[in-house]
Amino acid sequence: MKILITGGAGFIGSHLCEKLLGAGHDVLCVDNYFTGSKSNIAQLLGNPLFEVMRHDVTFPLYVEVDRIFNFACPASPIHYQFDPVQTTKTSVHGAINMLGLAKRVKARILQASTSEVYGDPEVHPQTEAYWGRVNPIGPRACYDEGKRCAETLFFDYYRQHKLQVKVARIFNTYGPRMLPDDGRVVSNFIVQALRGQDMTLYGEGTQTRSFCYIDDLVDGLLKLMDSPPDLTGPVNLGNPVEFTIRELAELTLKLTGSRSKLVFRPLPSDDPRQRQPEISLARSSLGWAPTVALEEGLKRTIAYFRFIL
Ligand code: NAD
Ligand code: UDP
Ligand code: UDP
Repeated sequence: MKILITGGAGFIGSHLCEKLLGAGHDVLCVDNYFTGSKSNIAQLLGNPLFEVMRHDVTFPLYVEVDRIFNFACPASPIHYQFDPVQTTKTSVHGAINMLGLAKRVKARILQASTSEVYGDPEVHPQTEAYWGRVNPIGPRACYDEGKRCAETLFFDYYRQHKLQVKVARIFNTYGPRMLPDDGRVVSNFIVQALRGQDMTLYGEGTQTRSFCYIDDLVDGLLKLMDSPPDLTGPVNLGNPVEFTIRELAELTLKLTGSRSKLVFRPLPSDDPRQRQPEISLARSSLGWAPTVALEEGLKRTIAYFRFIL
């Protein structure tokens, strides 16, 4: 199949490109390199099935493909808040353009949605049936509301134009090819620990997240894309084992053997206090569940950062 991956030079997108090429597909990677990088896909350039196009998804795109993974969008708070208007445009105009493309060529399309659609949740763990608690005017809204509107568009194209859509709600994912300076907690802690710098815990470090290793996530995304047409989602994809941010810091210290100190910094506004995916839908409909425990995934990620630093 000919498969388009928007955001294909990013962290998740580059792993998807690699996996789909490995399965013998023809892959078109589209990216504007806002947070992605050519080095993430450099090792794929020799493959005749791989093609790269510099393009911003907020503009129309006319190509012929069978499937689309729509992953273009900055994902870390410092990057999506850098130009919040562009972030909303990327999610909303990007979704309209990719849905218009899918409609014209009758392609199946999968959206990278996010656990952020649940906001700071009152339901724990978060099920797909929960509608969420998002501040529509806060600093995270450009991302959260952009992604919520993209989901709306996906379901309207599904109902109105009978498109084959799939919506994955991705929970915190980590692994090799995260940027060392993008501010996400796993990369921050590993980089700080390896450099012997203070490890910055926001708030008291009592907030929780549930961390999914990249290989598990990619496996779930491919299963969702291949699932029967009546499975539209949204489907939660994430690892349900929940940790406090303090526990993550302590585990990172242990695995790196670092003597960095833990220091406390102000909690960013609207920072969700707890997050854990309820994944029974993914288990029953996709036969999917994560297999890589945090300790193992962190070891692999630490090895990557040791190498690039
Ligand atoms: P990333 O920043 O590494 O990747 C995003 C990619 O999109 C980058 O290569 C960037 O250059 C590209 N991009 C941004 N704006 C673009 C535009 N207008 N046109 C074309 N390309 C553009 O982040 P990631 O972690 O790989 O996230 C990929 C997708 O998965 C995002 O849509 C994100 O919202 C979603 N997601 C990620 C996580 C996570 O934990 N990593 C969690 C939930 C959802
Ligand atoms: N579009 C695109 N590539 C295509 C087809 C459409 O980028 O191959 C864009 C186009 O810019 C359009 C949007 O997708 O504005 C939505 O397309 P749709 O056909 O749903 O609506 P319309 O063209 O009526 O606006
Ligand atoms: N965080 C932290 N120190 C850091 C970076 C992040 O304590 O150096 C916290 C952040 O406040 C949040 C959690 O770690 O509670 C996860 O942050 P991240 O930006 O990785 O993801 P998100 O908040 O989008 O889930």
